[in-house]
Amino acid sequence: MKRTKIKDILQNEQTDYKVNVKGWVRSFRNNQFVALNDGSCIGNIQVVITLDTDEAIIKSIATGASVSVDGTVIASLGKGQKVEVKADSITVLGECNPEQFPLQLKNRPSLEYLREIAHLRFRTNTFGAVFRVRHTLAYAIHKFFNDRGFVYLHTPVVTASDAEGAGEMFKVTTLPFDDAPHNEDGSINFKEDFFGRATNLTVSGQLEAELGAMALSEVYTFGPTFRAENSNTPRHLAEFWMIEPEVAFNDIYDNMDLAEDLLKYIIDYALQNNREDLDFLAQRLVDEEKQKPQNERSELGLIEKLELVLNNKFERITYTEAIQILLESPAYKKKKFQYDVSWGIDMQSEHERYLVEKHFKKPVIVTGYPKEIKAFYMRQNDDGKTVAAMDILAPGIGEIVGGSQREERLDKLTQRMNEMHIPVDEMYWYLDTRRFGTVPHAGFGLGFERIVLFVTGMTNIRDVIPFPRTPKNAEF
Ligand code: ATP
Ligand code: MN
Repeated sequence: MKRTKIKDILQNEQTDYKVNVKGWVRSFRNNQFVALNDGSCIGNIQVVITLDTDEAIIKSIATGASVSVDGTVIASLGKGQKVEVKADSITVLGECNPEQFPLQLKNRPSLEYLREIAHLRFRTNTFGAVFRVRHTLAYAIHKFFNDRGFVYLHTPVVTASDAEGAGEMFKVTTLPFDDAPHNEDGSINFKEDFFGRATNLTVSGQLEAELGAMALSEVYTFGPTFRAENSNTPRHLAEFWMIEPEVAFNDIYDNMDLAEDLLKYIIDYALQNNREDLDFLAQRLVDEEKQKPQNERSELGLIEKLELVLNNKFERITYTEAIQILLESPAYKKKKFQYDVSWGIDMQSEHERYLVEKHFKKPVIVTGYPKEIKAFYMRQNDDGKTVAAMDILAPGIGEIVGGSQREERLDKLTQRMNEMHIPVDEMYWYLDTRRFGTVPHAGFGLGFERIVLFVTGMTNIRDVIPFPRTPKNAEF
């Protein structure tokens, strides 16, 4: 018989029909009741096995074992579920020795422990929920852009450009470490390397996306990006996924609207399509908050937080206003910030979080950053000091989106590149967009794991990507 997904059985609530279900045993009570999960939803189906089931089979039904059940869906007599499966026959597909199984599903293993067994953590309710929500968000992102006529552009993972300056890069090479060819001056001769030049893993697909936007008008990328910076924080990964729309004819205000629409659309989509998972994660958060001292607990539950974001326009302020707010804040006056505040600083996470969590209590879009702390391609404002940059700051996370209107004026762009010692010659292909039919355009990068963190209410970025890559950690 063809397998029926547990989600479908639980959802349609019909009874008195034959099914086959397959999945992994979450628990086994009284030698009779099997809680079975197949990952299609957070809920388990209760399978009731007959009393005359073979003793050897009963012995091998343990938490973690995989089974196949033929039976009838009936109305459940027990509490907690409307329907259950009365087994006609049960087959153990794969046994699971409870003494060796690292996952003790019954006594809530810590997230830290689960990171050490990331190959098995999918089998927990929490990670099942997180990765279903992650999937939904990815799908919603594609749907959002597709519905608006954007072209999904696949930008390269291996790149020769190291000019973006967004962070340290991982080198890509096939040269032998112990016997690399050298130039006369002692440097490595990358002409002998696979690509005939030095190459890296990309830190961003933006520059290539800009090339696409100069013909297709609306493009976006959604791919892995890599940063070899040694930042061991709960918000940084060495390998993360980024969404980067790039739109011809958009200015910084269109760019803000696009980012706000995108974030609201995907949050709403998750609320509508993953409500059970989000309710579970909300409850998980409530339980976790109970461990914290009263004054550190967040006032809002997960669902309320998401709805608050949906129902309010993001605050829009300039960098100069943000600095002013920080300087006037009680936190600053009482010297609560670790890092100093003055016009020109690259705001630290504590500053960003003060603005969104304490001051505005909703997402904030900050524009007009000092040009010194931003990339060369951002459009220079008339004041000569700031650029048309925009960062979106989210409660509990800080920066979630970084973007800008791009400098479309060739002279201004090359001048800025020279000031920042970016090789203008090597970047001829990028500058050609400004030479041949340049147009105003804008785009941004949304860190995918940061939005997954936000929507799931998880607090460590390692817990929202299946296999995290962080300094000194690339297991699995
Ligand atoms: P941050 O200041 O948080 O280190 P950034 O300014 O270096 O970020 P950008 O270069 O603007 O980041 O990248 C665009 C987006 O990608 C960021 O807004 C963030 O959501 C995400 N992002 C950046 N670096 C990382 C990282 N190491 N791990 C996960 N997401 C990241
Ligand atoms: Mn940024």
